[in-house]
Amino acid sequence: MKVIVQKFGGTSVATPALKKRIKEIVKATKEEGYAVVTVVSAMGRENDPYATDTFIKLVKNVNPDPSAQELDLIMSCGEMISGIILANYLTANGIKACFLTGEQAGIVTNSNFGDAHILYVNPQKVLDCLEAGLVPVVAGFQGVDEAGRVTTLGRGGSDTTASALGVALDADMIDIFTDVDGVMTADPRIVENARVLQSITYNEICQLARDGAKVIHPRAVEIAMQRNIPIRVRSTVNGTKGTLVSSQVSEIKDSIQMIRDNLITGITHTSNLAQIKIDISQMEGSKGIELKIFKSMALASISVDFINVQPSIIMYTVANDQAGKALEVLKNIGLDPAIELNCAKVAIVGAAMTGIPGVMAKVVEAMVENDIPILQSGDSYTNIWCLVKKEDMSKAVKALHDKFALGC
Ligand code: ADP
Ligand code: MG
Repeated sequence: MKVIVQKFGGTSVATPALKKRIKEIVKATKEEGYAVVTVVSAMGRENDPYATDTFIKLVKNVNPDPSAQELDLIMSCGEMISGIILANYLTANGIKACFLTGEQAGIVTNSNFGDAHILYVNPQKVLDCLEAGLVPVVAGFQGVDEAGRVTTLGRGGSDTTASALGVALDADMIDIFTDVDGVMTADPRIVENARVLQSITYNEICQLARDGAKVIHPRAVEIAMQRNIPIRVRSTVNGTKGTLVSSQVSEIKDSIQMIRDNLITGITHTSNLAQIKIDISQMEGSKGIELKIFKSMALASISVDFINVQPSIIMYTVANDQAGKALEVLKNIGLDPAIELNCAKVAIVGAAMTGIPGVMAKVVEAMVENDIPILQSGDSYTNIWCLVKKEDMSKAVKALHDKFALGC
């Protein structure tokens, strides 16, 4: 049996016109000879009646601190509602379908409520549906732990559900349908002339996704990559081919060419960060202070990023909403840090920039020309990151996109 898993994101299931599009997509895929498994997200975004954030608010309005287990249960409702509606819509319109919760679809996770990881998938019920000639509509973003408690998979979790099912069913393809035309050289909400990448490798998209390109979750890419299952990121609304994500060089010829010409694949951004700076130049007995700082952050479960340790200063970032807690922890160990709230990290990402002289000079040039102060910078084989003030973020992304001539 040839199988394609098709995931429809939050904005792809919200209106009657979109449901009709989904039906057309599923029908066309079946006519090509594939068995189709669909995965759905909750309908709509913040403040929409059946969006996940709306459910969180509902419970938090009556109890600001609900148990993690019950929070996950209510958070899993959005996908159930949209999945039941979609399965019934398809059935009523000539495509027999059945709805499955994450648990019914065999998605077994660890017990890390709110950000659970999939341990394994037992796709028996999905296969039973397919055998019976039905299109299974699986609720994304949710699973069940080994004790039978409902869990959710964290941001972008429906992408992960689709990939895990794709691997479990040895699918020919995982289609991620969304509200943009594919993976682009930057977020099109910021950069008007961002270009759709026709093809990209698993590694490249992982880099982009880890640095903030939320078009697909990096965990979903890592899962598909393990079994070499190609992913297509494409628009629900228009019929364009989107972006093919795979490891095969023959399929990504255009992309390789593009990277060689342009050095880099894309520009990403992450906002809502706070920069912490601890001046240790005048400190007596500062030996081992780094260890003390990072151990205390770990003990307080504060994730740190963009770490820069120098003999006179220690800098790193935390999420904005963790900054207060971080300050308290640091004061408790006798430190007096400077905290800059509302920062953003912009990055240029590209496998081919390694060792090429002048890339950093171009980054700095783009920032200087646009009067954007760089608060901190860092680099790896495939990335250069700059921390900027949040109000400079969009300007910085656009400036870098222009400087590296990535637009169409
Ligand atoms: P879905 O609900 O379909 O999962 P998401 O909101 O999670 O959709 O992801 C799609 C969004 O990702 C787009 O609307 C776009 O604003 C954003 N995005 C960020 N970076 C990129 C990029 N490089 N290419 C395409 N989209 C991007
Ligand atoms: Mg998403």
